[in-house]
Amino acid sequence: MIVMKFGGTSVESRGAIDRVAGIVRERIDQHPVVVVSAMGKTTNKLLAIAATAVKGERDRATHALAELREFHLHESHGLPVESAVQSHFEELGELIKDLAALGEFTPRASDAVSSYGERLSSLIVASVFEDWGIDAVHLDSRRVIVTDDRHTQAAPIFAPTNARLEQIIPGLMRGPEPANKRVIVMGGFMGATVDGVTTTLGRGGSDYTASIVGSGIDAEEIQIWTDVDGMLTCDPTILEGGYRVKACSFAEAAELAYFGAKVLHPATVLPAIEKNIPVRILNSRRPESEGTLIAEEAPDCADPIRSIACKRNITLVNIVSTRMLMAHGFLRRIFEVFDRFETPVDMLATSEVSVSLTIDNPRALAAIRAELETFADVGIEEHHAILCLVGENIGRTPGVAARVFCALRDVNVRMVSQGASLLNISLAVASSDVRRAVESLHREFFANPDPAAFE
Ligand code: ADP
Ligand code: ASP
Ligand code: MG
Repeated sequence: MIVMKFGGTSVESRGAIDRVAGIVRERIDQHPVVVVSAMGKTTNKLLAIAATAVKGERDRATHALAELREFHLHESHGLPVESAVQSHFEELGELIKDLAALGEFTPRASDAVSSYGERLSSLIVASVFEDWGIDAVHLDSRRVIVTDDRHTQAAPIFAPTNARLEQIIPGLMRGPEPANKRVIVMGGFMGATVDGVTTTLGRGGSDYTASIVGSGIDAEEIQIWTDVDGMLTCDPTILEGGYRVKACSFAEAAELAYFGAKVLHPATVLPAIEKNIPVRILNSRRPESEGTLIAEEAPDCADPIRSIACKRNITLVNIVSTRMLMAHGFLRRIFEVFDRFETPVDMLATSEVSVSLTIDNPRALAAIRAELETFADVGIEEHHAILCLVGENIGRTPGVAARVFCALRDVNVRMVSQGASLLNISLAVASSDVRRAVESLHREFFANPDPAAFE
């Protein structure tokens, strides 16, 4: 068995879904379970419609919902699934009406609304597969992916999830004799609590669904089909011309994903690591490309850096307290505050009386600042980014830091940290310096990339 996950652009239209059907049909002997994202930018649109309704702009919300319905009906035209699409939009219409009346958009309501993207796309994809002569069956992910109730950021609960996957998938997949080759199609991103309330795994979470399913069914491979050739040596939205990384380790991929390589949801590799299941990133527009293979160990490479990730919209928090000179407990007090407001810290630099750190979720920043100011002076700088150079060779190659700083001689580097894992060097820079910095670093480290490792 393999899991094949297709992202938003890979299922953005009927034409794109036809391409997916072709890709799946060629791999039918590997017994694929297909996980799909919402079509194109549907999730963004659903959330925007709900927000508009909550603001009281009911007509605008109704109009935008009608447009989204027309789009889905157009792309599923002529398929037996058309009436199911209609009735999903009727339900959605009711939900949006309730939100407008209530004037409140709770995280639970957000999940109820945004899950429709994947509920619709998975139905349509299964129906297109049937149209292509593939024996396909739709599975509502909420029957198998059990999560906690942290709406919009729910975490899977693995014991019941795995039990349900084991119980449902093999039987459903078997299909009628003699072919025994039925393809299961399910939506990514969503799940349900043990009580059956719809949840989502956080934005970009369909990758995570794929690896949860892959690990639950002991798949041979988890494939993430997207719109680029694989993990690239730099974020293509910042700098064109990056190379395809042929292979990297789980640890490297996890680090890159956490520090902004959007091609993988940060939690994706975790279930794969546990069962040692390889993850492959592939391009649905160029299925012949080999993609990036992510496995326990990557083949050795002559270069120290595998790729440069970038996490944007970072806020720098500078905390200074001369009263803490020679005193202990300063860091504990600071971290207690961030902990209490459930705000993760990404990067940290300390001196005797000052601490600089970065956060990417400023939701509770005003309250955090007020608490910190009871014992320290606090400075806040928005519009920053973290650049993260990742590679298992960093720890064994002398001179990498020198090359980094040489390449960035004209850039104001605000913070530096070499990760404790010896796997990364992270730098905080102003947003306005990101492109220039990535360009310089890429030129420095990928002028002549090892052809065995990059293409
Ligand atoms: P999908 O809808 O298939 O899940 P995403 O938009 O979530 O696709 O992720 C793919 C995108 O990730 C690419 O189009 C690219 O812009 C972005 N990306 C950021 N960093 C990298 C990187 N290092 N390598 C490849 N893609 C990256
Ligand atoms: N559709 C969801 C999102 O846009 C999940 C995903 O695409 O992975 O965040
Ligand atoms: Mg994605």
